Amino acid sequence: MDSTRAPAGSPDAQISPGKSIAYWSSHPPTVNSMLGGYPQISRTDLRGSAAFWAKLLRQHPPSAPSPMISVDCGAGIGRVTAGFLSDISSIVDVVEPVESFAKETGKQKLEGQGTIGEVFVKGIEDWTPEMGKYDLIWNQWCTLYLTDKHLVDYLKRCRDAIKRPDGWIIVKENTTKDIRDGHDGKDVYDEDDSSVTRTNEKLLDIFRDAGLTIVANEIQKGFPKGLGLYPVRMYALRPEANKK
Ligand code: SAH
Repeated sequence: MDSTRAPAGSPDAQISPGKSIAYWSSHPPTVNSMLGGYPQISRTDLRGSAAFWAKLLRQHPPSAPSPMISVDCGAGIGRVTAGFLSDISSIVDVVEPVESFAKETGKQKLEGQGTIGEVFVKGIEDWTPEMGKYDLIWNQWCTLYLTDKHLVDYLKRCRDAIKRPDGWIIVKENTTKDIRDGHDGKDVYDEDDSSVTRTNEKLLDIFRDAGLTIVANEIQKGFPKGLGLYPVRMYALRPEANKK
C-alpha cells in the first residue's frame, strides 16, 4: 500500500493537487483571488499577523537578535510578503506552485525594507527547505491542500529548516467551526479547490505528530461576521525540546 495515501473515507483522501493547481491557475493574480473574493479582509489579516508576531517576540525574545530570513509558503502573489514579512525580515523567500502567481511576487511593492530572495515554484509537499536556514517559516492558507500525511512530513522538514533556538514555524489557516456552533466537528473537503478545512483538534494532532510544540494558538479577530468565513487560527510552533 502507498503509505502517502490517506485512509479511504477520510476527507483528505479526496485531495488532488492537480485539481487545486487547476483551480488556482484559472484565477487572475489579484488580492481579490487570494482572499476568495473578500479583498477587504486583507488589512485586518495583515495587522492581526503583525500583532501576533509582536506578542510572540515579546513573550519569547530571541536569544541573539540577527537579520531575519523568512519564507512565505503558498505565497500566492506575495500579499503577505509585501504587506507584512518584508517589514520584519531582511530577506523573504517565496514558495508557490502556480508560476504566474510566483512571478507576480517579484512585482509587488514591498512595504518594508526586506527584499525577496529565492523563489521556489512548487507545492510545499514537494519542497525541501534548506537545513537551519530560516528564522520564520510562514504558512498561510496553503496547508489545506495537503493530505494529513503530507502535512506531517512537510512540517518535519520545516522543523529541520528553522534556526535553533530562535526560529518559528507559523501556520495561519482556516479551521472548521466549533461543535458548539452546531458544526459536527469534522474535517470538511471542498471540491472547488480540492482542499480540506480541518478542526483545531486535528491540526494540533498533526503538529504534535510532526514533533512540534504549540507555543501559541489564537483566533484572528475582526473579520466581518456577515461574510460567514471559517474561523482563522494562528499557530506558533517550535520543535519539541527532545526532537533534534
Ligand atoms: N498565502 C497567500 C495566498 C493564499 S491563496 C495569502 O495569504 O495571500 C492559496 C495559495 O495556495 C494559492 O496561491 C495557491 O496557488 C497555493 N497552493 C495551492 N496548492 C498548494 C500547495 N500544494 N503548496 C503550496 N501552495 C499551494
